[in-house]
Amino acid sequence: MTRYRIDGHTVDADDEERLQPLLAHAHRATGSTGTRPVCLCRNGRGSIAPGPAMYVARINGIYILKRMPGTGTEHAPQCRSYDPPPEVSGAGEVLGSAITLSPGDGATRLTLGFSLTRAPGRAAPTATADTDPTSAHTDGTKLTIRALLHFLWDEGGLTRWDPAVAGRRNWSLIRRDVLHAAQDKVAKGQSLTDALYVPESFDLDHKYEIAARRASLLRQVAAPSKGRHKLLLLVAEVKTIAPARFGYKVVFKHVPDCPFLLPEDLHRRLHKAFDIELALWEAVEHTHLVAAATFAVSPAGIPTLDQIALMPTTDAWIPFESVFDKTLLDTITAARRPFRKTLRYNMTRDKPLASLVVLDTDPATACYIADADHAPAHERELVDLIADSSLASWIWNPTTASALPPLPDRSTSMERSPA
Ligand SMILES: [Zn+2]
Repeated sequence: MTRYRIDGHTVDADDEERLQPLLAHAHRATGSTGTRPVCLCRNGRGSIAPGPAMYVARINGIYILKRMPGTGTEHAPQCRSYDPPPEVSGAGEVLGSAITLSPGDGATRLTLGFSLTRAPGRAAPTATADTDPTSAHTDGTKLTIRALLHFLWDEGGLTRWDPAVAGRRNWSLIRRDVLHAAQDKVAKGQSLTDALYVPESFDLDHKYEIAARRASLLRQVAAPSKGRHKLLLLVAEVKTIAPARFGYKVVFKHVPDCPFLLPEDLHRRLHKAFDIELALWEAVEHTHLVAAATFAVSPAGIPTLDQIALMPTTDAWIPFESVFDKTLLDTITAARRPFRKTLRYNMTRDKPLASLVVLDTDPATACYIADADHAPAHERELVDLIADSSLASWIWNPTTASALPPLPDRSTSMERSPA
C-alpha cells in the first residue's frame, strides 16, 4: 500500500476523501512556504530518509500526486510511482528531450516527429526518417508515432502488471487509461486530448449515440476546401486490413461501420515497417493489434489514414515484440509476479533492451532476452548494459536454452501479492 506524508498528515494513496483537501491545500502552497508531499514507500524498512518528494497536479478539477521528474527509481519497486531507470527502457532516450516535464504547471510537452496537419490534396505522406517509426531516427529529440503510443501505454499505467488486475482489462479500461494518459500532455501547441480519438466500446443499445459522438468529432476536422487541415490521432485495435476499391481499408474494433481508408503507398510502407508485428498478430493466438494513427477526414466525412504504427499485445493488453517476449510474459504472468513491461519508443530492434522489470525483488530485476539475429554486437552491448545498470539482471538466451531459466526469487522483505 502506497502512503504519502502531506503537511504532517500520513494518508493512504487510495483514501481520496482525505487526500483531495490535503492536496488542494498543498497545490495552493507550492511555490510559497509549502513543503512538497513525500511518498512513504521506502519507510518502515530501516530507512530514515524522508522519502521521494512529489508534486501536485490539477487535472479536470481533481488533484493528483505525481513523482518529480527523474525520481522514479527512488521509489520502492512495488510503489505505484516507481519507474525503472532509463537504461532499461526506450523512454530513457526521449525523456528530457522529446518529452519534457514541467512540475510548475504539471504539463508534459511532447515534440512529435510527425505532423498533426496536412496540406490539401496530398494523397499520401512520404516516408522520411522522422515519420518512419522503424527507421534509424533515434536521436531522441522527436517522438515517432510508435514512440507516442508507447508513451501513452506507459503513462496510462498499462505497462504495469499486477496479478490483481488479471482478467479485468477490457477495451473500456484501456480507453479510459489512454485518455487519462493524454490529459496533461501538450503537443504542437495544443492539448493532446483535443487531437485524440479512442473509439468507445461498441454497445448495441447506444449505437446511435456513439455514432453521433464520433461523427461530431470527425466533423471538427473535416477538410476545408483550402489551407492545411487538421489531423486527428487515433488509438484503436485493428480488426482487419483489406483491399478496398482504391487502395486498402482498415476496420478498427468497436467502429465496424466506419472503415478508415489506407492509401496504397502507406499500405506498402506499413508492411515494410511492421512486418514482424503483422506476422505476430497472424501467428500468435489472442493477440490484440493496437494501432496509433493520424488521419484526415474528407468533406464527405470519410477518414483517411496519414501515418500509422502497430503494437501487438497479449490478451491482457501487454505489448510484446517477439514470440520469446510473449513466452516470458506468459510465464511471469502465470507465476503471479508483478512487473513493468519496457517499451522501445524510438529505439530500433537491433539495440538490446530489457524485456520487462520484475517488481517484487529489491532492487527490481531487469529481464533480458538475448537476440541471436543481432549477435555478437547485441551480446556485447547487452553485457555493457547490464554492467552499468543499477538493477539486478536475469537473461534468457533462447538459442542455447529452450526452457526459461528459473525466475528471480522474490525478495523476502516484500509482501506476496494476494493470491
Ligand atoms: Zn513511492
